Amino acid sequence: MTTVHAFGADSATAPLAPLEIERREVGPADVLIEIAFCGICHSDIHFTRGEWGEVPYPAVPGHEIAGVVAAVGADVAGFAVGDRVGVGCMVNSCRECENCKQGEEQYCIPGNTQTYGSVDRDGTVTKGGYSTHVVVDQDFVARIPDGLELDVAAPLLCAGITTYSPLRHWGAGPGTRVAVVGLGGLGHMAVKLAKAMGAEVTVLSQTLNKKDDGLRLGADGYYATSDRETFKELRGRFDLIVNTVSAPLSMGRFLGLLKTNGTMVNVGAPPEPLAVPVFSLLGQRRSFAGSAIGGIRETQEMLDFCAEHGIAAEIERISAAEINDAWERVLRSDVRYRFVIDAKTLGATAEA
Ligand code: NAP
Ligand code: ZN
Ligand code: ZN
Repeated sequence: MTTVHAFGADSATAPLAPLEIERREVGPADVLIEIAFCGICHSDIHFTRGEWGEVPYPAVPGHEIAGVVAAVGADVAGFAVGDRVGVGCMVNSCRECENCKQGEEQYCIPGNTQTYGSVDRDGTVTKGGYSTHVVVDQDFVARIPDGLELDVAAPLLCAGITTYSPLRHWGAGPGTRVAVVGLGGLGHMAVKLAKAMGAEVTVLSQTLNKKDDGLRLGADGYYATSDRETFKELRGRFDLIVNTVSAPLSMGRFLGLLKTNGTMVNVGAPPEPLAVPVFSLLGQRRSFAGSAIGGIRETQEMLDFCAEHGIAAEIERISAAEINDAWERVLRSDVRYRFVIDAKTLGATAEA
């Protein structure tokens, strides 16, 4: 075991603070990663504050990890010391169920091992990327292409793949109209990715405050959901709506924006149930769906797509001392568009 610096919380109400955690010895199939950057995902907040269920404290969140390989196990063939790599929301899965065999480890039937808060194969509780180092099985490590800087690549490991996967699954591309609800971490990636896939993209944000940004990121249209006219004007317009909002929405109004056979896919994960008025679905054979991150193969495909299309996250780089403030800003929808922690500052704070 190796002791490393991290940032985490001891309870649902405690602020995040420096702590030291243990990382396992590098096993034959493991990769030791020196973390350079870790993005702040809204899921980190839902999880750490106990909104999704019981939490095994101390909790160390973080599943948008980018760094450099520092050591590899004897059986590791695909990675070498010095490689630029990333880790997302999963660090293992059963590998035997039909979903794992198809490369959809995110839907592993007995359940995948999450990067934080899961019971790992060795019985310990996984701890995430708000830390200086992590040990991960080689099969759950992705390669960050040369064209992508590590800080702007980190958010691709969750925000990127979580929006890429449903856009691909539901066929976003030339001739399709895609709406993105919420212009935060996931939302801004959804806009960039859907545009690069060739779709016509519309942002549905609470206000028009970020309209200039939305259009610069590639949106063709930008509307405020606080304006009732938006729902009249856009009625029946979209093939696909990607809802990235972290709180419950009034679903009927949004479902009415879908064309016949259109789909609204929820990637936002509010703890409260959403009320879906079924007449908004059955009248036009619309679908309401959900989607979780993406498989490891698809994550690599997404990273390569981003490098090829010159896409990365828009970030605000912060130090460890700024994490608690950054969380409060995420909760106020004041994020442009992902906070990324400089992992070098974690050690500095822990020693202070
Ligand atoms: P985020 O950066 O906070 O973005 C969420 C955006 O939703 C905000 O920027 C805001 O956009 C809008 N919003 C927030 N509160 C709202 C409210 N009460 N009513 C209407 N709109 C509201 O969060 P994120 O990191 O992108 O994550 C978004 C959600 O996805 C979270 O619930 C997270 O847990 C979930 N998630 C799911 C997966 C998955 O695999 N399915 C993966 C990652 C994250 P505007 O200011 O533009 O309105
Ligand atoms: Zn996430
Ligand atoms: Zn499985």
